[in-house]
Amino acid sequence: MSATILVVEDEPGIQEVLKFNLGQHGHDVIVAGDAEEALTLLRGALPDLILLDWMLPGMTGIDFARRVRADARQKNIPIIMLTARSDERDKVQGLDTGADDYITKPFSPRELMSRIKAVLRRRAPQMTEDTVEIDGLKLDPLSHRVHGKIEDKSTALDLGPTEFRLLHFLMTHPERVYSRSQLLDQVWGDHVFVEERTVDVHIRRLRSALEVTGHDRLIQTVRGSGYRLSAIQG
Ligand code: CA
Repeated sequence: MSATILVVEDEPGIQEVLKFNLGQHGHDVIVAGDAEEALTLLRGALPDLILLDWMLPGMTGIDFARRVRADARQKNIPIIMLTARSDERDKVQGLDTGADDYITKPFSPRELMSRIKAVLRRRAPQMTEDTVEIDGLKLDPLSHRVHGKIEDKSTALDLGPTEFRLLHFLMTHPERVYSRSQLLDQVWGDHVFVEERTVDVHIRRLRSALEVTGHDRLIQTVRGSGYRLSAIQG
């Protein structure tokens, strides 16, 4: 799993430790020394997760988290708060503000990595490497393979890279309708400017790749709304 992580932390020592450890685990790291700088960075491409220090010069971590949660474009970014305090009241306040988790300094890199993994698994399952299986259709992010099963016979399906990402997203968010623009944000990235009909093109390619084992039936068009992956027909 490789994520883009925005670290908002003013202490250079901790910045370095985080940059090193996150980098070792394959993550891309962007560092902001204070909340104002982080807000500026968020106007560009959005990160997959924010590691946020509680005590920052200027705007506090809590106020920054509130701003993020109040912004339509940024509100779904998972936030893990880093805090030197272990006071129970502060933790509750942090979670109330919309942080997904918190970790108390000093923390072990191993603990931090497992918290990041857990938060991403919950909030962005398409970022993890867990195999997903729905109705005989199996996708393995590690080997980048998709298999469909018909009458106990497993058949490898051939998908292009975009169709693979699209299928991975839909399989990790089944039974929910996504509009074309939501799919563009989630699968193509929120700062990529492509036309909405591009989604239709890739949905068509995805369906035809899945036709071999009849799993194209899972990709449903919801008129006037968008697309949904569902094992339930109709
Ligand atoms: Ca600090």
